[in-house]
Amino acid sequence: MTMFDKLTAERRARLIAERQLDHRTRELDKTLGLLDAARQELRHLRSRGHSTPQEIEDRAAAALTVQTRALQDAEIAQQEAVMAERRLWDSINTVRDGFAVFNRSQEMIIANQAYLGVFSGYPEVQPGISYRRLLEILALDGRVLLNGANPAEWIEAMIARWQEDKIDPLVLSFARGDTARVYDRRARGGDIVSLVRDITEAERHAAELDEARRHAEAANRAKSAFLANMSHEIRTPMNGVVGMSELLCDTTLSDEQRLYAETIRSSGEALLGIINDVLDFSKIEADKLTLHPEPFDLERCIHEVLILLQAGARGRSIDLLMDYDLFLPTRFLADPGRMRQVMTNLIGNAVKFTQNGHVLIRVVGIEDKEDRHQLNITVEDTGIGIASEDIEGIFGEFAQVEDQSNRKFEGTGLGLAITRRLIELMGGQIWVESELGKGSCFGFSLTLPLAEESPTMPAEPIRLERVLVADDHLINRTILERQLAAQGLEVTLCASGPEALALLQNSSDGGFDLLITDHEMPGMDGLALTQKLRETGHTLPVLMLSSSPAVLDDHPALPELRAILQKPLLRHDLVRHLQLISNPQQQPVDAPEPRNPVAVLPAQGRTMRILCAEDNKTNRLVFSKMVSGLAIDLTFAEDGRAAVAAFKSTRPDLIFMDISMPDMDGREATRAIRQLPGGAQVPVVALTAHAMQGDKEEILAAGLDHVLTKPLKKPLLVEMITRFCPADANPVDPGLQQTG
Ligand code: ADP
Repeated sequence: MTMFDKLTAERRARLIAERQLDHRTRELDKTLGLLDAARQELRHLRSRGHSTPQEIEDRAAAALTVQTRALQDAEIAQQEAVMAERRLWDSINTVRDGFAVFNRSQEMIIANQAYLGVFSGYPEVQPGISYRRLLEILALDGRVLLNGANPAEWIEAMIARWQEDKIDPLVLSFARGDTARVYDRRARGGDIVSLVRDITEAERHAAELDEARRHAEAANRAKSAFLANMSHEIRTPMNGVVGMSELLCDTTLSDEQRLYAETIRSSGEALLGIINDVLDFSKIEADKLTLHPEPFDLERCIHEVLILLQAGARGRSIDLLMDYDLFLPTRFLADPGRMRQVMTNLIGNAVKFTQNGHVLIRVVGIEDKEDRHQLNITVEDTGIGIASEDIEGIFGEFAQVEDQSNRKFEGTGLGLAITRRLIELMGGQIWVESELGKGSCFGFSLTLPLAEESPTMPAEPIRLERVLVADDHLINRTILERQLAAQGLEVTLCASGPEALALLQNSSDGGFDLLITDHEMPGMDGLALTQKLRETGHTLPVLMLSSSPAVLDDHPALPELRAILQKPLLRHDLVRHLQLISNPQQQPVDAPEPRNPVAVLPAQGRTMRILCAEDNKTNRLVFSKMVSGLAIDLTFAEDGRAAVAAFKSTRPDLIFMDISMPDMDGREATRAIRQLPGGAQVPVVALTAHAMQGDKEEILAAGLDHVLTKPLKKPLLVEMITRFCPADANPVDPGLQQTG
């Protein structure tokens, strides 16, 4: 190697060494910098109170302990969670209801024992099994009762059910004997939660209840039938009692005998009233009572009831008044018999419990919908009233304010209960307001359809202008004033006879066209007033209102009256009399019409023939006595078979047929007669003690024409006979009989 080479090599080595030194120096500087920074950091940490490395070590150890405890806690918590889940499942498994969850692919995720129980014997039934497979097991293995459905169709229907937006509950019955209601709900993520509620017990309970209800209904039917039979059994002898006592009352009797006979008759009728109440009540209880609406006149119906009950009020100073809304129609569609029953009960009670004062029936109404009227009917009395604590139960069965020991009023305590039920049956409501010692007001509201008006005669004009009214009763005056004013009359009211006389003396007779006076007024009654009027030269016409026109004693003023009007006053009657007084050439309205057109036919020599089939001896006697004054030829048959034979031999014009007869009853006998020559046309009137709903329909269906219910009433019997008296027969002369 040349020197040059050696120098070059050395220089190269020196350069390298210098570069390395430079590098080492820079590294040393850097390390010194770091050391300095570390020292500063250490100083800084010390100044902030930080621990020494020993302390840091201690702290690290403590941190480790905490971490270990946290881990232990987490483990315990997890164990508890597992326990809770297990407990939940244990509980879900113990309930009788099935519970299962399915995922959105309709695979079972989880199910409790109750759910799985129905699939016992199928180890494949585990989480993961499809819903379809479960359905297949149920349907194809006969585990569910398909009630005749096809298994494949049932499975498809069950799958389709899960597709619906809202899955309705479904009842399934299983072959092992239980029944369940299945509720399926869609949960989050498309899961379906299925709850299968065991309703076997509930169903059994419902079936037992159903059975119990059927038994109760059967018992109720038996009770109704028993009542119907009892009613029949009681009515038959009662027919004898009431009928015979009625006949007895028509004979000449001493006062004492008359008292006895009247008592027998009224007691018999009261007993029949009770039987009717009990029968009605049992019909209502058994839901057997049906209404038969037909057109009827409401005002007239109430009026008739008032007239009927007026007899009971006689002897006490009670005024029976009616205030029928002037602008309210009178003809409605309702069951007239039942309406009359309601009115009879309410007005009857008012009369029964009132010693003096008045009983006022008010009828008001407003038009409801087309052709319907909302009616409000109240019966107000000034009687004994009802204590507030008794009011609540007053419409209950057998509710009577007095107890048995101090009863002085007759009655069953069923009347108001029946009345309430009847009104409710008609769609109405009943209420009562009352104050003990002051009086009561029973009212009911009802909506009734209007019935078309019966054809009326063209209205006669009323040519009167000024009317004087004398009545001591304020309500009566007010009602009269409104009724008269509605006819366009100018009305002057006064409260007594002397007041009326004073008014008339001050004005000339011509000032008033008419005087309407009440009969019974304190001091000077209507007749005395009329007499005084005539004595002082007044000639104006007088109309008198009386509660009992039939029993007026002879009085010199009687011929001076233009008419005596029955109280309570029917508007129609009042108007007719006003028309009559305005147009004197008219016939008086209440001139009696010939009662029976047949009676005025000329005699032609043949007597009407009547056949009566009746097995009961007393009833035959009652019947014969009731028709004894008639010019008829009466034949009796003692049973159905004898009636058929008698029909052939006597060819009657009319047959009265008892229904319940031994061997061949009235229906069979009528059917047999209808087959005979001439038998199809002969009128047959049933006589029956059965008063239950449906009896009449059944009797008419057997071919009879009419039904009369026992106890027989003479006027009805006579009416039937005169109605069917043939044209070629002599009149039966009912005039002799109409008073009974
Ligand atoms: P009853 O046949 O006893 O009259 P109801 O059911 O018709 O039966 O009446 C029940 C009871 O209500 C009566 O016994 C009576 O105590 C009371 N009552 C009914 N109406 C009136 C009335 N207008 N004034 C006072 N009490 C009455």
